Amino acid sequence: MYNDLKDKSYGELLEIVSSHQQKPLCAQYLFTFIHQKDATEIDAVTPLPKAFRQQLTSEGFVISSIDLLEQHDDPDGTIKFVFDLGDGAKIESVRLKDGDRNTLCISTQAGCRMGCKFCATGQLKFQRDLTAAEIVDQVYHAETICGRISNLVYMGMGEPLDNFENVMRSIELLNDKRGRNIGIRHITISTCGLPEEITQLAARQIRPRLAVSLHAPNDAIRSKLMRVGNKFPLEDIVNALRDYQRETGKRITIEYCTIDGVNDKIEHAKALLKRLKPLKINVNLIELNPFPGCRYKSSPTRQIREFAQILTQSGIETIIRFKRGRNIKAACGQLGATWLEEQ
Ligand code: SAH
Ligand code: SF4
Repeated sequence: MYNDLKDKSYGELLEIVSSHQQKPLCAQYLFTFIHQKDATEIDAVTPLPKAFRQQLTSEGFVISSIDLLEQHDDPDGTIKFVFDLGDGAKIESVRLKDGDRNTLCISTQAGCRMGCKFCATGQLKFQRDLTAAEIVDQVYHAETICGRISNLVYMGMGEPLDNFENVMRSIELLNDKRGRNIGIRHITISTCGLPEEITQLAARQIRPRLAVSLHAPNDAIRSKLMRVGNKFPLEDIVNALRDYQRETGKRITIEYCTIDGVNDKIEHAKALLKRLKPLKINVNLIELNPFPGCRYKSSPTRQIREFAQILTQSGIETIIRFKRGRNIKAACGQLGATWLEEQ
């Protein structure tokens, strides 16, 4: 939204303030009240001169807020939040508790254009990109309910790199010391692997951690599971990741969902190793989570362990991600599953 002050960078707030002949300090008040103190109306930014507040309001400026519609608590400590974006679009975020870590998994789009066949979000109709304000607001709402969020993962609904600028803006807002001050090493973007955007990310000053959802050791299997597999061959993705690593020196997490009889054989693990040889990686194996209408099944635990063993034997740090939040349809790939039937 053009007039949404929550969506503005600090630099843009400075411009607005100076074009209204106000002191630069006013930009700091605005930023801190919006991003640290959860102000949702201009009048709540009390250090600003009253006349300036009135002027901003009469010019149509607002501080947006998304509405929390539902909260679902799983006995395993996972919490799912459902938000209403005000125009009929709905999204979900998930809080995961792990020792000291309070992680929030956030959405970047209502629906997803990538249409991966094993993912509930991918079966929903794509509605739209979220603004940066709508992305950061998921964090602000969650913090009022479950305390300081220590880690952020862009792994909810949508493909973050398909909404590149808004996602990068949201990260800058959340990382800013005048706002929430979430450390950049505690922020991870998960992508289905868009090579051009990976290259763009490498060139940015502020760079989060990167996780790439690969799910297959070759293009034939990948394009069966993921529509993007037809567009970008694995070779392009691996090349983009190699350049990314050369530029940033950062290790990349590979996400691999093990699907019964599709990509979970020993030979697949070996082929994956070969493919990823040029990269410095760690691997997260994810058990496939079911949703209504999903044609795939999770691999048996024994199979997943054997797959993991092949990788660890070659020195690749590998973890198996346990099912979390399944009771409330909050596990990986289940977001939006409850709306599939309505659709
Ligand atoms: N669009 C991004 C981020 C959101 S999906 C991406 O694809 O990476 C977050 C993770 O959940 C991805 O690794 C995705 O492959 C995985 N996922 C999707 N559907 C799943 C399912 N049914 N079971 C388990 N993981 C799933
Ligand atoms: Fe989109 Fe990620 Fe789901 Fe694929 S796995 S449809 S990219 S959200």
